[in-house]
Amino acid sequence: MSSDLTLALIDATSSAIAANADELTALDQAIGDGDHGSNMARGFQAIAAQRDALAELELGEALLKAGMILVTTVGGASGPLYGSLLMGIGKGLKAGKDPTAAFAEGVESVKKRGKSDAGAKTMLDVLIPTLAVLHAQPGDLGAARATAITSVEATKPMLATRGRASFLGERSIGHTDPGARSACLGILAVCDVLEGQA
Ligand code: ADP
Ligand code: MG
Repeated sequence: MSSDLTLALIDATSSAIAANADELTALDQAIGDGDHGSNMARGFQAIAAQRDALAELELGEALLKAGMILVTTVGGASGPLYGSLLMGIGKGLKAGKDPTAAFAEGVESVKKRGKSDAGAKTMLDVLIPTLAVLHAQPGDLGAARATAITSVEATKPMLATRGRASFLGERSIGHTDPGARSACLGILAVCDVLEGQA
């Protein structure tokens, strides 16, 4: 039996990334090497190419496979990091955790893989506050969206201490983190799908 939820999640996330790849690239040109848009687009295209096969799996298993696809198709730092996020969520769901607890497991995996945490001007500066709001206001996807959006903006004044942007030191200040923006795009796309289901 094929899963409509899996298909909707794959379609929403891959189109959001494709539609905004140029913006992600521009952000990465300012404080990185300008490949974040193409990295993310390549990874999510590879997932979309497997959409029918992935939709045959349980959601947790599909997320594990999708994470592995990101790890193997994306060369940059973001491939293994987003791969860890999806695999962590997949593991959580397979273990019977609720969606927020599974998301927490994914965020934990990114922290471990990136040896990072909040405040380093990375994707974690969107993932961690969004997770926090879901813990504080369970099921409030509107609050999750709003937090993801404001958290992207909040990376602007931060000093990057992880990833390529950290090589710039003080010059990283004043620019939005590209991975924070892609994390926000992913969260908004997932919220669209989950709200459509309600
Ligand atoms: P690369 O830096 O290898 O060119 P990308 O440009 O695709 O890879 O991804 C850059 C993004 O990855 C950054 O904007 C940041 O959000 C995220 N990132 C980099 N290093 C880390 C880390 N150690 N922990 C969490 N996120 C990180
Ligand atoms: Mg880059």
